[in-house]
Amino acid sequence: MISLAFPSPVTATIRLSQGHLNLLAACPRKFQYAFLDQLSSPNLTEQQERQNQGAQFHLLLQQWQLGLPIAPLTQADPQLDQWFTAFESASPEILALPGSTSPIQQAEHERTLECQGYLLTMRYDLLLTGDRHAKILDWKTYPRPQNARHLAANWQTRLYLYGLAETSPYEPEQLSMAYWFFQASQDAATPQSLSFSYDRTQHNRTHQDLTNLLQQLTDWLSQYAAAESLPQLGIAHRECDRCNFFSRCFGDFMPSDPRLETSDPLTLPAILEIQEVPL
Ligand code: SF4
Repeated sequence: MISLAFPSPVTATIRLSQGHLNLLAACPRKFQYAFLDQLSSPNLTEQQERQNQGAQFHLLLQQWQLGLPIAPLTQADPQLDQWFTAFESASPEILALPGSTSPIQQAEHERTLECQGYLLTMRYDLLLTGDRHAKILDWKTYPRPQNARHLAANWQTRLYLYGLAETSPYEPEQLSMAYWFFQASQDAATPQSLSFSYDRTQHNRTHQDLTNLLQQLTDWLSQYAAAESLPQLGIAHRECDRCNFFSRCFGDFMPSDPRLETSDPLTLPAILEIQEVPL
């Protein structure tokens, strides 16, 4: 058996983003494959291109926020230009904060919160703060989803609001979060948004859910250190349908499967530097 020296979460200072929490909540085994075993499943080219363009748009808005020239980016990419034009046209509404005429704007604002021996990291695309209210803004480059419940339950919404309440003087009721979707759709040519308010009841629920999830993670990591795998879902679960690790979990797995590559299995440092997983 391969022996695995695994430091406790407290001493290892494991950093977890909303993406890690989403993956862990969706399927612990998938979390293991992606981050502990360092298996990777390369994105489809089209998917990768969309992600790159989304990242470029975030960079563009950050540059705009800092007063840096953005023409080199918009002139080189008509899609970026279209999204930015949509942003500009709606910016008075996007950048408005209740009760504040000139809120402080902080782009790509990062916060860290210690919880259960882990470091939870949050990166806000834009944070608006005023005397009595603060709002987290997040940019999306796809059309607005029809159903807001999925986003409300997503760990990005929950962790971002929870983290701000825990690391700022604001009461939960003074916080809100808005997602802005810049991709025009058949139903809407202008940017659309989904907004979420916050309160003490939600805060307490998130605290409890987070505590439970991280306690489970600590137990699972101890088991993993003893060469035991993290729990799987049932084969009929809909999460498994779209999972690239299906054959690894349930059969027909080929060690030479080009979708799954690992450089150094059963070592753990990768979890200390794992990248944020997009929604
Ligand atoms: S196939 Fe199912 S159980 Fe296996 S990692 Fe994927 S989601 Fe988890």
